[in-house]
Amino acid sequence: MPSTPHQLSNLPIRERLGLRPIINVSGTMTTLGASIIVPEAIQAMAEIAPQFVEMDDLQRKASAVIAKLTGGEAGFVTASAASGIAMSVAATMTGTGLLAIERLPDDTERLKNEVIVQLGHVVNYGGVIDQSIRQCGAKAILAGTVSVAQAYHVADAINEKTAAGLYVVAHHTVQYGMLSLPEFVEICHAKGVPVIVDAASEYDLRRFLEEGADLVVYSGHKFLGGPTSGIVAGRKDLVRAGYLQNRGIGRGMKVGKESVAGVMAALEAWAVRDHDGIRAREQSALDLWLTSLSTLKGLAVRIVPDPTNNPLDRIEIKVLPESGYSANGLAIALAAGTPPIIVRNHEVERGHFFLDPCNLHPGEEHIVAEQIAKLLNQKERPEGAMARPVKSTASALRWPD
Ligand SMILES: *Cc1c(COP(=O)(O)O)cnc(C)c1O
Repeated sequence: MPSTPHQLSNLPIRERLGLRPIINVSGTMTTLGASIIVPEAIQAMAEIAPQFVEMDDLQRKASAVIAKLTGGEAGFVTASAASGIAMSVAATMTGTGLLAIERLPDDTERLKNEVIVQLGHVVNYGGVIDQSIRQCGAKAILAGTVSVAQAYHVADAINEKTAAGLYVVAHHTVQYGMLSLPEFVEICHAKGVPVIVDAASEYDLRRFLEEGADLVVYSGHKFLGGPTSGIVAGRKDLVRAGYLQNRGIGRGMKVGKESVAGVMAALEAWAVRDHDGIRAREQSALDLWLTSLSTLKGLAVRIVPDPTNNPLDRIEIKVLPESGYSANGLAIALAAGTPPIIVRNHEVERGHFFLDPCNLHPGEEHIVAEQIAKLLNQKERPEGAMARPVKSTASALRWPD
């Protein structure tokens, strides 16, 4: 029988689909498939896939697991953290008003329809966060300046139309000059305004609720190693109102049974995961990179902690001119190599990039070290080795070509 690509099933899936076998030292990037899904979640997803379930009951079970892990009163699973933010914002606008839920994003004049965000928290994680507010028909009220927010900026922005305060915990935000979460919560709560925390990429499942958040939103597919999903946890009345958005703006963000079951399993696995063992494995990759890359001429290498205090260190590689590369040029050369290696390059215009050890398959740390050494030790430099980064949308606009 002639074989179609799908029948070549003895090939690894990336080869079968014609995809590059990238090594991810970039972090939990959704554009790279986020994370390595843990075996417990894969098994739960496979098991539930052919079964029928009553989705409200499945989400009720998920609520109990989320409550147990986060310390919140209740919770639900969404398609992504971005949808969790939108559904949380909508919850603070509509409550359990079923007609208002159906009418969003219109007819918001009689609802509270303003959401306060510190200007330094207006981030882009692939989409812009204020769109998660605007898509509900609400307005983002930006408090403070890009580098300073004071209590009065937030307090004076609150009025009778304020639905919520949105607080972002992420490496994307300005890391200084902003109010701390307890400060932000105190100001909002003094005027009866609930606080939603975007903690999509954070390890700590309890801290933000403990610090007074009314709702907290996590990604299921980042450090948790679950399927693509989001988790909303917190005050029961707001969780209920958020879940009801599945009849409204949440419908187009629907999460399937496989993701709900998968993220429940990932949460349970997180609770018993050998966090120290994982940290030790990440540390040994960092040690290997630090030792081997420090000997290369033109690189300055050091270990740096995670900017939002997740228990995770990374290697920062400063690429000096005597290496014959710019940081951007070296990152591009690594991505063009065999196998392609994708580094953490969001600050590459500052002359450095990072290696993130949290998504490595066993042995990949050696390949990364060897490829970097090879590029620096070879005599020639590839074209574009000194290229400065250019922000280009050309390839996005060409897709699917
Ligand atoms: C990744 C991220 C998101 C988006 O998460 P998804 O689950 O991919 O929608 C939102 N906020 C922050 C701070 C993030 O890091």
